[in-house]
Amino acid sequence: MRKTTSPYVLQKKSKIHNNGIFAKKDIPKGARIIEYVGEKVTKAESDKRADRDLDNHSENSDNGAVYIFELNKRYDIDGNVPYNTAKYINHSCDPNCEVDIIKGHIWIIALRDIKKGEELSYNYNYDFEDYQDHPCRCGTSRCIGYIVDEDHWPKVRRSLAQKKAAKKSKKKKTKK
Ligand SMILES: [Zn+2]
Repeated sequence: MRKTTSPYVLQKKSKIHNNGIFAKKDIPKGARIIEYVGEKVTKAESDKRADRDLDNHSENSDNGAVYIFELNKRYDIDGNVPYNTAKYINHSCDPNCEVDIIKGHIWIIALRDIKKGEELSYNYNYDFEDYQDHPCRCGTSRCIGYIVDEDHWPKVRRSLAQKKAAKKSKKKKTKK
């Protein structure tokens, strides 16, 4: 299958992580930028693949994130296919895009006006569980340090504060 294209995007090296997708021209807020395509798989099959992708991720942190998107109650889309250009869009804690399902198609949508040359990003919305396995390098001022759904940010902040406090009290004890 041919690689998906869009008049809005080009692919090049990113400061965040490996390859990224950049705005080829100004993109207006609300625009459907590019479709996120892949293999349509059943829930059972996608669970299997997600486990496999996560295993690969911990073995080689430069390779393999989870590319599975929920399409509806019965099917998911596995975007880890060579023709899916949208899979190169990086995560950001302060993204300029979001993902939306419109009539059975997964679209990358502009959250705001995007200037030519900006890198495109969306929040990968990972679960809270094992969030520490997915450090974030988005570099934005809002960065929470991990790739995790913004709904979980308060929990992440509490968890990080507890860890910090635990470290401090340990240090004090060893001084004595
Ligand atoms: Zn970040």
